[in-house]
Amino acid sequence: AVVLGIETSCDETGVGIVSGGRLLGAALSSSMEEHARFGGVVPEIAARAHLESLVPCVRAAFERAGVGPSEIDAVAVTSGPGLATALQTGIAAAKAYALAWDLPLYGVHHLAGHVAADTLEHGPLPPRSVALIVSGGHTSLLLLGDLARDPVVHLGDTRDDAAGEAFDKVARLLGLAYPGGPAVAEAAHDGDPGAVAFPRAMLGDGHDFSFSGLKSAVARHVARAGDSLAVPDVAASFQEAVADVLTRKAVEACLGAGVDTLVIVGGVAANRRLRELAAERCRAAGLTLRIPPPGLCTDNGAMIAAVGDLLVAAGAPPSSRHLAADPSAPLSRARTRD
Ligand code: ATP
Ligand code: MG
Ligand code: FE
Repeated sequence: AVVLGIETSCDETGVGIVSGGRLLGAALSSSMEEHARFGGVVPEIAARAHLESLVPCVRAAFERAGVGPSEIDAVAVTSGPGLATALQTGIAAAKAYALAWDLPLYGVHHLAGHVAADTLEHGPLPPRSVALIVSGGHTSLLLLGDLARDPVVHLGDTRDDAAGEAFDKVARLLGLAYPGGPAVAEAAHDGDPGAVAFPRAMLGDGHDFSFSGLKSAVARHVARAGDSLAVPDVAASFQEAVADVLTRKAVEACLGAGVDTLVIVGGVAANRRLRELAAERCRAAGLTLRIPPPGLCTDNGAMIAAVGDLLVAAGAPPSSRHLAADPSAPLSRARTRD
């Protein structure tokens, strides 16, 4: 099947066309810069930007894929979680395309999309795997079976901040640019990861995470250091603490579940140090590591098309024409409830 995927859950308007697990073409437009002066995503600005970018992105994706509307077999759209007004613009567009072209419509969970992004690069997932989702709003360890058919089992989740959220908040504390993740990573490049001994919360204590204490420790350090604050050292030490906890717990989860493949996805999976440490520890533990290329880690439309493609192949029933945005949809299945 050839599937058109639409993603508008946050500040990225993403469109992708996928067929048989292969990415044919994609387009992306971001309103990130419009939010920079507010220090975070403003829902109304994001929604208006989606409205302006959606049709041009769909056109560009078609052009790059070298296919036309008549070759599309299904439309997939992120129905949650995300910002309500932002989700609604994508859902409205997806419904319009599905109706106009008489195609089945699939409401897709955004986080299942993050996982499926990896299949575009590395092929189908094995029958069982553990996924570490590290994004702006989520940090979870999941036990996966067949993504299109089986329910997702949560092994652990963050009890407070998400890993990406911690990067974004620490960037603000350090006076770095928005968005915070890439800025902290860049500053960390010239820093000493052993300079400050930041806490590693909940190590050896189950599969849950906590990052708010780490963020507070950075805030205390910044206040104490005053004018002598060494931004690169703090950034590198913070990044090391996050990567250390994430990779240790992910490896533990795989060994505990008797699973030999770890998949790391979501925006924070673009982080170089995290990728490096994960590779090192998976090698030591005899695990196969899969991480999508950085461009498929952050939000995009191809990952939603990838889920749609899997759902069609599995014979999953389409969503109803009344599909609505579900801003806090829990991840239990790849296809969201109607
Ligand atoms: P969610 O997927 O939970 O709904 P989201 O869609 O906003 O949230 P993503 O697009 O998956 O999140 O990821 C964005 C997050 O990734 C931001 O918090 C950003 O700071 C972080 N991020 C992006 N690149 C990097 C990097 N190189 N290092 C660390 N963090 C990064
Ligand atoms: Mg984003
Ligand atoms: Fe995301």
